[in-house]
Amino acid sequence: MLRLPKFKYLQPKNVAEAVRMMADAGPDAMYVSGGTDLYPNMKRRQQTPKVVIGLGHLKELRSLKGRPKDGIVLGASLTLTEVSEDSRVRSVHPAVVRAAELISTPLLRNMGTIGGNLLLDTRCNYYDQNYEWRKAINFCMKKDGEICWVAPSSSRCWAVQSSDCAPVMAAIEAKVKLVSSSGERWISAAELYNDDGIRHLSKRPDELLTEIQLPPANGWRAVYWKLRRRGSFDFPVLGVAVWMTQEKDGTVRDARIILGGVGSYPIKAVNSEQAIIGRRLTEDTVREAAEAAYRPAKPLDNTDFHMLWRKQMTRYYVAGALREAGGLAAQSS
Ligand SMILES: Cc1cc2nc3c(=O)[nH]c(=O)nc-3n(C[C@H](O)[C@H](O)[C@H](O)COP(=O)(O)OP(=O)(O)OC[C@H]3O[C@@H](n4cnc5c(N)ncnc54)[C@H](O)[C@@H]3O)c2cc1C
Ligand code: SF4
Repeated sequence: MLRLPKFKYLQPKNVAEAVRMMADAGPDAMYVSGGTDLYPNMKRRQQTPKVVIGLGHLKELRSLKGRPKDGIVLGASLTLTEVSEDSRVRSVHPAVVRAAELISTPLLRNMGTIGGNLLLDTRCNYYDQNYEWRKAINFCMKKDGEICWVAPSSSRCWAVQSSDCAPVMAAIEAKVKLVSSSGERWISAAELYNDDGIRHLSKRPDELLTEIQLPPANGWRAVYWKLRRRGSFDFPVLGVAVWMTQEKDGTVRDARIILGGVGSYPIKAVNSEQAIIGRRLTEDTVREAAEAAYRPAKPLDNTDFHMLWRKQMTRYYVAGALREAGGLAAQSS
């Protein structure tokens, strides 16, 4: 049985105290919300904070504010179940609901939070192992070692962005609020991520994610498609988020297509977007956009399934997501 290492657990009464505790504890501290990512990582000694600051109970982080026509603000410690069951979120952002509902199992969704999901650690077959396993291969660059076993000549880590909600939040242009002892700032959800398996977040370690602002729908339609081995529960090995608005005749006014699970950050498929913007969404334009998504998808041999098959599947998933967003009939291939 894997056991947690010893650590000091702090329970702040409010956000101000949480931020103060983090400033006092310094780089040895981490925040925890549901703990469904951090605690397994601590058991495997992938993350080894000496101080853990609990957030799940903070009222300020558990509110759901706003109206569908103005936008909705999610407290970072709302559980995935709470987010996906809320009627306002369901009416305006069904893609957020879809992504949240596809995460792990009901039990874990009752514990795991929307904030923790957006800040999920990147994943890799050589890293998501227990300490002894990792020690047997002399560790890797992401933790305790020097080499990347996926790309040994590489100077960077290629661990994979594996949050289901991250590509959706980037596609709908959600914003996140970060608070620390030096102040607060809002950034877009897309800006939260770096193309680096180790420094995968632009958020500083001392910053607390407090709120996620979802924009009003304003005629946009969003969908999320997820590829995984088991339908019951599994991390995404490919996620496709599409946000699109169309004229009455089917011409795409604007679109965003974001790929998850095929790189260290949610990848904006710019050429795919350009293949449909200003054109009517037809089988031909869908195929062009799907073809263009093949290039930026860069899966490596460090998660489930063969990487070439996952890359190939990008075409099918982008096409499927676009057809669903544009109300075209589903195709068999
Ligand atoms: C079996 C299993 C299957 C899973 N399947 C999926 C899946 O299919 N898709 C998926 O996306 N995820 C999956 N997960 C991962 C995880 O359960 C979810 O991503 C969950 O939403 C994480 O939220 P949490 O509150 O538990 O995060 P925590 O474990 O509490 O935290 C995660 C990270 O975020 C930091 N953090 C948390 N809240 C804050 C905050 N407010 N401010 C600053 N830092 C913070 C923590 O320090 C930690 O680094 C799975 C996990 C397990 C164990
Ligand atoms: S991509 Fe390389 S460095 Fe990163 S976790 Fe995997 S093996 Fe380690």
